[in-house]
Amino acid sequence: MDHSEAASERKYYIGEHSLTAKRIEPGLHIVSTPIGNLQDITIRALETLAACDLIACEDTRVTGVLLQRYGIRTQMMTYHEHNAHRQLPKILEALGAGRAVALVSDAGTPLISDPGFRLVGDVVEHGHKVVPIPGASAMLSGLVGAGLPSDTILFAGFLPNKTHGRKKRLEELRDIPATLVFYESPHRVGASLVDMTEILGKRKAAVARELTKRFETFQRGTLAELSDFYSGDRPKGEIVILVSPPEEQELTEVDADELLLEALKEMPVSAAAKKVSKATGVDRKTIYTRAMELKNAGTAEEPESD
Ligand code: SAM
Repeated sequence: MDHSEAASERKYYIGEHSLTAKRIEPGLHIVSTPIGNLQDITIRALETLAACDLIACEDTRVTGVLLQRYGIRTQMMTYHEHNAHRQLPKILEALGAGRAVALVSDAGTPLISDPGFRLVGDVVEHGHKVVPIPGASAMLSGLVGAGLPSDTILFAGFLPNKTHGRKKRLEELRDIPATLVFYESPHRVGASLVDMTEILGKRKAAVARELTKRFETFQRGTLAELSDFYSGDRPKGEIVILVSPPEEQELTEVDADELLLEALKEMPVSAAAKKVSKATGVDRKTIYTRAMELKNAGTAEEPESD
């Protein structure tokens, strides 16, 4: 590979093949980059990175590895959540001068749990063009390999780190009729799956790990099974968790009645609801409501007092 060309020649390389990028229009180009496998980049993305005047990236070392791989010598500047306010005027100035600026993140598609959403808003407000250059994203690779319904999905990004906030967020998502897609840190996978099992109940799910990389794996099962699987194991690498939509619960609720009537003989309503929710996988709120109905209808025997 000959690295002697000036940046102005706008070359890029695929293997030993030298290619000349066409000129691109001024504006902010939102360029997706690989999520692990450096070959997962489109020709259009390479052309854009080679032909633009400036690349705004989260970390010049990370993006530098990609540029190096493809022999691209475009100038980089950092743009991340901590310096966004300082860098915005510079990007707007470049766009105002008729330049083409590319926005990339460390991996995948910018703005997807990554910086850029405010920048795009500001750029649009200033009347500049925004050009998406599609490509890899972990949420999509996870979805297509999970084996779960893909007709309606809700991308929920990262859940809160602490159990209380996480459970609250899961309660908000519980009744949404869509496959839920989460990003998660490997340290919290086990804890998140425990909370998902409790709040979302009996559902199919998948844990997609290290997508596009050497140790790519999909672990599939019910939330309870996955929760068990990860209880003693802290996985390494990057993780997407996918959970199937809530199912019609009619049948399970009928089954739950029997268990509830038994449990209500021995314990108060809330404890009975907790026990039966755990046993059936039906969410606790539904079971609690049903327990109250049974109690108020006089169908349930009261627990014996000492
Ligand atoms: N913008 C990226 C995208 O389009 O996928 C996501 C960036 S977000 C800061 C990083 C999170 O994405 C990781 O913590 C992980 O949950 C998920 N992720 C990124 N790469 C992944 C991979 N190769 N395999 C599994 N999950 C990945």
